[in-house]
Amino acid sequence: MDKRVGVLGGGQLGRMLVEAANLLEIRVNFLDAANSSAKQVSNHAGHIEGSFKDAAAIRQLAANSDVVTVEIEHVDTYMLEEISATTPVQPDYKTIRMIQDKFAQKEHLIKHHVPVAKSIALEKPTVGELEKVSATLGLPLMLKSRREAYDGRGNFPVKSKADFQPAIDALGKNGELYGEQWAQFKMELAVMVVKTKYQTYSFPTVETIHENSICKLVYAPARGVSAEINQKAQDLAKKAVSCFWGRGVFGVEMFLLQDGELLINEIAPRPHNSGHYTIEACPVSQYEAHLRAILDLPLHEEDLQLREPAIMLNILGGDKPDSHLQFAREALKQRRTKIHLYGKGEARKGRKMGHITVTAPTMREAEAIIAPMIAYSTPGKY
Ligand code: ATP
Ligand code: MG
Ligand code: MG
Repeated sequence: MDKRVGVLGGGQLGRMLVEAANLLEIRVNFLDAANSSAKQVSNHAGHIEGSFKDAAAIRQLAANSDVVTVEIEHVDTYMLEEISATTPVQPDYKTIRMIQDKFAQKEHLIKHHVPVAKSIALEKPTVGELEKVSATLGLPLMLKSRREAYDGRGNFPVKSKADFQPAIDALGKNGELYGEQWAQFKMELAVMVVKTKYQTYSFPTVETIHENSICKLVYAPARGVSAEINQKAQDLAKKAVSCFWGRGVFGVEMFLLQDGELLINEIAPRPHNSGHYTIEACPVSQYEAHLRAILDLPLHEEDLQLREPAIMLNILGGDKPDSHLQFAREALKQRRTKIHLYGKGEARKGRKMGHITVTAPTMREAEAIIAPMIAYSTPGKY
């Protein structure tokens, strides 16, 4: 392919994106540090070394690329706005600007009649403000940072009044906060949506399991979910994505409540952890789908369907600097198991260092294969 894709950020999502791009001879230019995860697997002269927050570097990336995209939403959208006058940016900078402020994202969804958990912004990050908000939302509630949130780092569950001060202490330094009504969910679901120039498609509805607000497991398809809810989740995910601008894949996180109602938790304007399974389980992965969408290449709906059931387990940093490597060695002993390590080097506890995907003819078989690895990675043992 003769088009060059520029990407702000070169983490694991960029690494998996370029793995898909290489098969199609699509050149991907990354703007990130020299030895970033994505650059390790892509050797050419088009990369830019620097921070994806640096204006001059973003201009240089745009000059080198035919289309610019992101692997992280925490970028300078005013720079994206500037470059989009000369180089297409996908999805649109307005989408990234709206989504990177989780509270603004919610208000936008409400405006478009998409159901979300009730949320109220704190005027200031103080205990007094949190008390005021909790009087309306009730307890427990989830206190959240509006910006720069990922992997639960901007979340603090507030269960009682005793949590007010610790919550403000933990998140107050992150800037603006908002409170979100606690969702008594039966399970969490996610759908990867692909928005092309012509149409909006979706991958299957999957079940996600989070531990301490960080994604741990993904089951594709979601277990024990009726065909009706499955369809409702895909329709809602497509509706939610359709109120944003531009093309590409979007990760849509949802809460399935006890009564079968669905609420959107949040949307990621990029490939997403809940879509890693597509690499092994679908004819076209979320990464290839993103490339096809932003480059206006053909895409077939049936290529987004599951070949067989899949389970994805994140490999997080453990107690020792090499816990994740030991985990990978253990996983190698299992059949039907694909291991992805991200080349991040330094492990911090809880940092996403890699993942494994098991696919099998039945979900039951996939569950049996992955069970010892879930047991291995249980906190306290790992
Ligand atoms: P990501 O890494 O997906 O960007 P994040 O840091 O933006 O995550 P959220 O998606 O807002 O955080 O929340 C992470 C997890 O915390 C959710 O998947 C869910 O398990 C839990 N959670 C978030 N909001 C609520 C809520 N209102 N009620 C109950 N649980 C919640
Ligand atoms: Mg998020
Ligand atoms: Mg999330």
